[in-house]
Amino acid sequence: MDEQKKMIDLLTRRGVRVEQIADIVFRLQYPYHAQLTLQQCVDSVKAVLTKRDVQYAIYTGVALDELAEQKLLPEPLQSIMERDESLYGVDEVMALGITHAYGMIGLTSFGYLDKEKIGVIRRLNDDPKRIHVFLDDLVAGLAAAASARIAHQHG
Ligand code: MG
Repeated sequence: MDEQKKMIDLLTRRGVRVEQIADIVFRLQYPYHAQLTLQQCVDSVKAVLTKRDVQYAIYTGVALDELAEQKLLPEPLQSIMERDESLYGVDEVMALGITHAYGMIGLTSFGYLDKEKIGVIRRLNDDPKRIHVFLDDLVAGLAAAASARIAHQHG
């Protein structure tokens, strides 16, 4: 099975569909590209998911979220993850790595999404039953990267 499909399956298992990430991309880029379609945004998210460093960030972040849900992390990390401690910024740093390859626009969009938490990012952030300390930032990073990718393609 190819790595992109594994990523899509992993995200789905954690409650996130590619279309939901694409929806955020659309909202970021539509003001600049009136011809933009949702399908182009889906394709852009999928293209970002083919990058190895992106895949490694997702594997790592999701593993930590799932281990925290199973209460398997050593202290003090377990408690930090359960509280989603606001001073813990490793999740943002890891997700920023995803946008890195897409230049300054990616970084700016990530900062915006981190603050506004639009779409599925908000839902992940507010989910009381599961731990998504890393996933909300990873989704913001994916959306920012896919958005910047479209911006660069349209010059
Ligand atoms: Mg987070």
